[in-house]
Amino acid sequence: MKADNENLGVVFGIDLGTTNTCVARYYGKKFEVVEIDHSLTVPSVVAYSDGGEWLVGWPAKNYSKIDPEKSVSSIKRQMGNTSYRKELGGSLLSPIEISAKILEYVKQKTEAKLSLQMRDVVITVPAYFNDYERRSTLEAGKLAGFNVLRIINEPTAAALVYEVGQAQSATSVASSAIGTQEEKWLVYDLGGGTFDVTVLSARPGQKEVLASCGNKFLGGDDFDRKIVSHIVDDIRIKHQLDVHEDAVVLAKLKHMAEGLKIALSVETEASINEIIEVNGKRLPINLVLSRKQFEEMIYDFIDSTIEKTKEVLREANCSSKEIARLLLVGGSTRIPLVKELLLSHFGLEGQDYVDPDLSVALGACIQGTIVSGLCFEKIVIDVVPHSLGVAALGDLDFSEKEHGFALDDDDDDDDDDDEEDEEDENDERADPIHAMKKRHPKTFSPVIQRNTKLPAKFVNTYYTAMDHQRHVEIAVYQGEAKNTRENLFVGSFMVNISPSPAQTPIDIGMEYDLNGIVKILVAQKDKDSPVLSYRMDLNRPAFANSDAASLRKQERDWARDDEDDDFESDGDSVEGDHNLEKVVKNLLVQRVEDRLTAAKDHPAEQMLARYKELLGSETESDEIDALEDALYDWLDRFEDSELPSHPSLQSNLHAHLPANGENKLQ
Ligand code: AMP
Repeated sequence: MKADNENLGVVFGIDLGTTNTCVARYYGKKFEVVEIDHSLTVPSVVAYSDGGEWLVGWPAKNYSKIDPEKSVSSIKRQMGNTSYRKELGGSLLSPIEISAKILEYVKQKTEAKLSLQMRDVVITVPAYFNDYERRSTLEAGKLAGFNVLRIINEPTAAALVYEVGQAQSATSVASSAIGTQEEKWLVYDLGGGTFDVTVLSARPGQKEVLASCGNKFLGGDDFDRKIVSHIVDDIRIKHQLDVHEDAVVLAKLKHMAEGLKIALSVETEASINEIIEVNGKRLPINLVLSRKQFEEMIYDFIDSTIEKTKEVLREANCSSKEIARLLLVGGSTRIPLVKELLLSHFGLEGQDYVDPDLSVALGACIQGTIVSGLCFEKIVIDVVPHSLGVAALGDLDFSEKEHGFALDDDDDDDDDDDEEDEEDENDERADPIHAMKKRHPKTFSPVIQRNTKLPAKFVNTYYTAMDHQRHVEIAVYQGEAKNTRENLFVGSFMVNISPSPAQTPIDIGMEYDLNGIVKILVAQKDKDSPVLSYRMDLNRPAFANSDAASLRKQERDWARDDEDDDFESDGDSVEGDHNLEKVVKNLLVQRVEDRLTAAKDHPAEQMLARYKELLGSETESDEIDALEDALYDWLDRFEDSELPSHPSLQSNLHAHLPANGENKLQ
């Protein structure tokens, strides 16, 4: 293998796909896909054989036909699932570890083939991936031994390929003629397990994502499943056998179904003539499926992608007539119905010279050359895929979106934010995310709105709820729902503040970098003290868990501080953190009462009465939690039907951190 310095000028792009993984490299001023195991794409499948051997790619895919229990595919769909574990090879593997195995495999194969070290890489993710999923992808890359230069969105990668080249051959790109005017492009990406659709503004040398949306649980796997259930029905009718719970048979049928599906992209009719073994008996599977039948099976799926496409056009404020080019990405775009519906709904035809299987890896590689300054000087502007904000108390006027001013870009990181108590990790981690979610107020206050251009920096001002409050809890969520419970919990941490009267302003700033990864800055503005700023880098794996542990450690420290504390101020007693919880509960009571004066609702009145009774008894019970959830739900429903919310009700709201309305503008 070549020494490190001979590796200079080598950058790789990896499309870590749900179904297939593809590697492209930039070397000798050319972009090309690396052939692994005689194939341009490698199945994203991992298995552990009976012989005690780890298998990845084609060997794993083949093994999955005989022993599906000992193999795992479509792991990308689980990237955001913190509790997912697959027992394989005697250990419980997380989606990060399984993805790392796929990446390690392509690394080892590529290095052996090229006699080069494969180190600097750009990995792609669906534009729809949230922060946690991006972070997990980054972590998988690191675990596999890569230096991950950047995580980029798949549609952006495809657009880069389109610009840089029309296909010279199936596996490499060269330059192509693109107009000099700004154009709008639509990237429609339907793969094995995810769907993304993106509108980009494109001019030579510059790509800007205007809007992006999708469904990370939709793709070719779903179409295969439809065919599988058709075959299962056929077996039931012809052989009076029910195989729908036989994992081995289903795995074999899935492979047949995929073959049938692929054949139907070119033929109007395709058939299966195979023999499988069921309970020791040989069972002939003879079945003919027409393209028309297949299209009926998957029509709703494809139609839902058309709806998403309409949505993204609306969000990009653009009509289909303004779309100059349609780029089709992902193996499932080869299905004729996809092209037909795109044509009939939007009058759009796909561009030929973007290879749907290879373009994402090639684009990642192009991005790698841009990031590392090796080649092009193109600017890629991505957008925030999901709104990012904090849990807040009180009413928020969601129509007010223009908040935000640029944060100082100073790097005075406060390093003592990262204390973690290793010893106590096990018992602290029983279910920290659930515990944290329960603690937080449930209104989501976005700081950075979805589809804001990256990199993005915004600040909102919030207010303390209590006199002499000494710390605030910053609970970060991602998503579009008004209620934090329906959004993704990113993490949470405490910030110490100097005790001040209630309504002390606290600035919360969020920075989203080009990898779609977030940093948070919190500053207290206090007239008697200098600006206190606290900065936390959230860019680390398993963020939520480790912070839950460190948070609890901090809480214990504060509890000890409270015991030692003889601070008094103007005769007022100092309120501890536990009292904040009371404030949260009392504010809930107040919000519901306020609304009940405007609207009679007997069940809500009863719930509130019971809630107050339980609060008065000061005993902890599950019923309090259940009532609290029900009351927040009621508030959501009430506010949805009442929007914009009552100004009179807004006036008596302060907040733990929240209450907007005074978001700063600059
Ligand atoms: P990707 O995630 O982009 O690698 O796409 C993989 C998906 O595309 C799998 O579900 C494949 O079965 C599907 N696929 C590949 N080629 C075709 C084809 N010619 N027609 C229909 N689906 C295909």
